Formats: sequence, structure tokens, C-alpha cells
Amino acid sequence: MNGTVHGLAEQRLRQISQRYTSGRREIVELLARAGNPVSIEDIAERAPRLPRSSAYRHLVDLQQAGVVRRVAANDDHSRFELAEDITEHHHHLLCTSCGGVIDVTPTPAFEKAMARYLDDMTNSNGFVSSDHRLDVIGTCATCRDGRMEPGAITEAAGSRRPRRD
Ligand SMILES: [Zn+2]
Ligand SMILES: [Zn+2]
Repeated sequence: MNGTVHGLAEQRLRQISQRYTSGRREIVELLARAGNPVSIEDIAERAPRLPRSSAYRHLVDLQQAGVVRRVAANDDHSRFELAEDITEHHHHLLCTSCGGVIDVTPTPAFEKAMARYLDDMTNSNGFVSSDHRLDVIGTCATCRDGRMEPGAITEAAGSRRPRRD
């Protein structure tokens, strides 16, 4: 699997006349290992020898080559992951408050229903779809907890935690 990832990355970079340098390879390896979208801060933490400016440049080149995809709830929080055709089709839950991203893989039934709705929508516009992206924007569980009154948090830390599920 990992060999395939690097092979694809090299091939796609070559198509835009770029070389698969050790720095780019390090980024791809890091993204493959992470298994979920990472921020530039995460990259700096996990690859401390790689200057942040180089990491950013590599990400731009890898995006251009179609190896990496940017995932973001808003302009403040960018995260990066390997392109979906290298990994697998999935969706994202994006927190606008902390920038957190949760990868979610819907059930086949969901994907089937969604494809049907999307076909209706695209066909009536004479558009042929090849793929779709669906990212859900909102607030994650951690940020929702953080928004409770200070008193409520103390109380929640005890045994009676208010739950709304
Ligand atoms: Zn959050
Ligand atoms: Zn889908």
C-alpha cells in the first residue's frame, strides 16, 4: 500500500515536471501514517527538521500534482490529506471553532441514496458528475463542552453530565 502511495506521488509529480524530493516524500509519508487530515502545526511537530516554509511549499506542489488535498472549515484552519483516489472515498466533519476534522465513511446505503439525489440534481443541469465531496460544517464535541457555563463544567465533571443524545 505504502509503495503504491509513493509510486503514485512520484508519477503525478513527474506529470507536472516536478521531482519527488526527500522533503516531499517525508510529507507524503507523514500524511499516509497520520490517517486523518493534519495541520501545518501537526507537520511541524512530527517533522521538526523540515522548515515550515518548505513544508508549506511542498504541500502546494503536492496539491498541484493531485497528491494532496486541502480540507478546511474556514480560512483560519487548513488541514491536508492524501487525495481521495489514493486513499478511499470519505467525508468530513469540520469544526469551525477549533479547526478539528473528523473523517467519516458513510454506509453504502447512504452513498447510494446520495448518488441518486445528486444524479437528479446534475442531470437536470445537463451535468455529468464523476465524484462528489460533502463536508459537514459545525462544532465538535470538545468545543461544545467548552462552551458550557464554568459551573456546568464543574458539575459535569462529577457524575451528572447533561447529555442530549
Ligand atoms: Zn472543535
Ligand atoms: Zn460520498
